[in-house]
Amino acid sequence: KSESGQLGEERNGLVITSFGKRVLIEADGGDNYTCKIRQHLGKLVAGDKVIWRTDIESGTGVVESVLPRTHELSRPGFRGQTRMVAANIDFIGIVTPVVPGIHPDMIDRYLVGAEQLGIPAIIILNKTDLLDDDEHWEAVAELLTPYDEMEIPLIPASTVSQQGLDELQEFMQGKNSVFVGPSGAGKSSLINALIPDLDIRVGALSEATGLGKHTTTNSILYHLPPLADGSYGGNLIDSPGVRQFNPMPCSLSELESYYPDFAPLLGQCKFNNCTHGHEPECAIKAAVESGEIAFSRYQSFRRLLDEFSQPAS
Ligand code: GDP
Ligand code: ZN
Repeated sequence: KSESGQLGEERNGLVITSFGKRVLIEADGGDNYTCKIRQHLGKLVAGDKVIWRTDIESGTGVVESVLPRTHELSRPGFRGQTRMVAANIDFIGIVTPVVPGIHPDMIDRYLVGAEQLGIPAIIILNKTDLLDDDEHWEAVAELLTPYDEMEIPLIPASTVSQQGLDELQEFMQGKNSVFVGPSGAGKSSLINALIPDLDIRVGALSEATGLGKHTTTNSILYHLPPLADGSYGGNLIDSPGVRQFNPMPCSLSELESYYPDFAPLLGQCKFNNCTHGHEPECAIKAAVESGEIAFSRYQSFRRLLDEFSQPAS
């Protein structure tokens, strides 16, 4: 009856990585199995929760079904299509170096992307060891004021001084996290600092999948070590695709909804479809002038709107 011979009991599993038409899953007990996937299931990614059965003869497995995903992290693909890169993400760490400087534009892109998925985000201010004086920190802090007011957690961190690593671990506890941010921000360094035996794990994975250590570009789920009190540390999902996280194009009103600092002023512009650009009597622009809205936030909003080239909705 089955293409795979005799099958064992149904079991729960967690997708660690996908490769070719197969996935490496972790069974309840922590053992890893290579599994085929029932054709109708489509693509599976790191973070997927599945029901699978062992193929008794071969010792490999077959994924029978996928549990509903809470969140899908996608990246832009060919011809405007998107490609899912991770599933069931519940936490986004935006990594940005404090030296050479903070780029609110970049932070806001990631925040909009996180808002679109309904996933909480924190901002990890990495490389604080390079901040040598209070003056420099003041300049950084000023750019961060809007995020502080939006109650987005800001975590000063350094993989050199180890600052912030414990706090970060607490945020990630029991969750599936990803780190996003520009190249050079220190994501790899942070991951290495949080997962001390990463090399060993990568080695074990490449053995289990039969792929070389750095040949797969697919997302991989890593377990964080347990916390000091023994509680479950959580998981971190990483890949080049995950790191290139981008917001999806959206309408003017949707974009506005991702700028909570604009909320008190919306509806107060002269035109109800105001793009807060060239229009006269714009409440948002007036708020920027009076300092109520940070210029950097206004700028990133306008840039995203431009990029999405969306007519007023
Ligand atoms: P990624 O591209 O985001 O993965 O960034 P990397 O982790 O590869 O780091 C880029 C560079 O920044 C490397 O030369 C790291 O050694 C350095 N780096 C990473 N974290 C820190 C930090 O906390 N302090 C300092 N001074 N350098 C860091
Ligand atoms: Zn306006």
